[in-house]
Amino acid sequence: MTGSLFVVSGPSGTGKTTILRRVLASRKDLVFSVSYTTRVKRPGEEEGKDYFFVSEEQFEARIRNGEFIEWARVHDNLYGTSREYVDSRLDDGINVVLDIDVQGALNVQKERPRAVYIFIAPPSYEELKNRLETRGTENTEQLKIRLRNARWELSKIYMFQYVVVNCCLDRSVEQLDAIVTSEQLRVEKMKDILHRAGLDFSEVRHDDN
Ligand code: ADP
Ligand code: 5GP
Repeated sequence: MTGSLFVVSGPSGTGKTTILRRVLASRKDLVFSVSYTTRVKRPGEEEGKDYFFVSEEQFEARIRNGEFIEWARVHDNLYGTSREYVDSRLDDGINVVLDIDVQGALNVQKERPRAVYIFIAPPSYEELKNRLETRGTENTEQLKIRLRNARWELSKIYMFQYVVVNCCLDRSVEQLDAIVTSEQLRVEKMKDILHRAGLDFSEVRHDDN
């Protein structure tokens, strides 16, 4: 059975990374897809854990080689999802989660319609602004760009299957965790377990009884 692909998206500053870190720390059945980016490393970020940090030239070579499922220019930096990283894990039956921007998520939708699409929304536009300011990782100009992009990103919310409104962090973590769990309980995902338990009678016809 191949793994499930989860696509977590939403405006910058809405809390995607914070929620995902907590969910990933408590689940053994989900791995994070580490993206490539040309943005500069923030204090505390680690190569290969948060991102693979590359130059624009290296990134463009990867685009030319078709190495990304999707890539996008987000707030003036390039970000891309590695096809190899994601597909090798899905093929091994491991569930994978992406944390990508909204244009990226909509691009993945074209190629992977069966993935699970989750939008993380802020409680309000004002609170989004507060969170970005408090995080303090962008200068005033970059902050303006992120807030401007957030309006367009919020306009795409109905393209997603699930929405987590990130008011209280504990509740958001529970909700994302519940979405991942529900996906594992789909009948088609449970087939192997039912089979091993001797409960797979899918070949039995009504008149055999
Ligand atoms: P994103 O990954 O979506 O860009 P982050 O996870 O970096 O967002 O969160 C942006 C800021 O908001 C961080 O400073 C984070 O600590 C804070 N934050 C995240 N979730 C909440 C929440 N539920 N309540 C208050 N602050 C939050
Ligand atoms: P940050 O610079 O704050 O780490 O990320 C900025 C935005 O880029 C976030 O919305 C994040 O979800 C998005 N992002 C991270 N990796 C990728 C990726 O591989 N592809 C796309 N399209 N967006 C990404």
